[in-house]
Amino acid sequence: MGSPELANLYQQVILDHSKRKKGFGLAEGGVAESHQLNPTCGDEITLRLHLADDDTIERISWEGAGCSISMASASLLSELVPGLTRDEARERIALFREMMRSKGAGVEDDEPLGDAAALEGVSRYVARVKCAMLGWVAFEDTLSLSS
Ligand code: ZN
Repeated sequence: MGSPELANLYQQVILDHSKRKKGFGLAEGGVAESHQLNPTCGDEITLRLHLADDDTIERISWEGAGCSISMASASLLSELVPGLTRDEARERIALFREMMRSKGAGVEDDEPLGDAAALEGVSRYVARVKCAMLGWVAFEDTLSLSS
């Protein structure tokens, strides 16, 4: 990745998460599963939703293959969601989507996104937005499938 443009994209947090993927490996059980494909880049993710007894999100588990951005984004999502209610999770997804559609402008308050806010720079590159959204779309799908 020699170009300054891509060097800018691959910030340290993205690199770390693409190398050491949180939540990677489908866990037993789960209440719903979603498989998502991003044909323009070749990214593929299968994600499972695991709920706690009180219907909050225990965690997500996932597997897949693809570019650093898609893998890092799913990893960052895995770190973010444990303990959230379904409503909180939907709010986080909406905020992340808003950030990804901002064309580099970002959102007013990205604090609810935790380290996933590091992906803001990706929103400048329209072709990569789908990479970053892939895991989040899969997560959103499992929320709908299980409600
Ligand atoms: Zn990709």
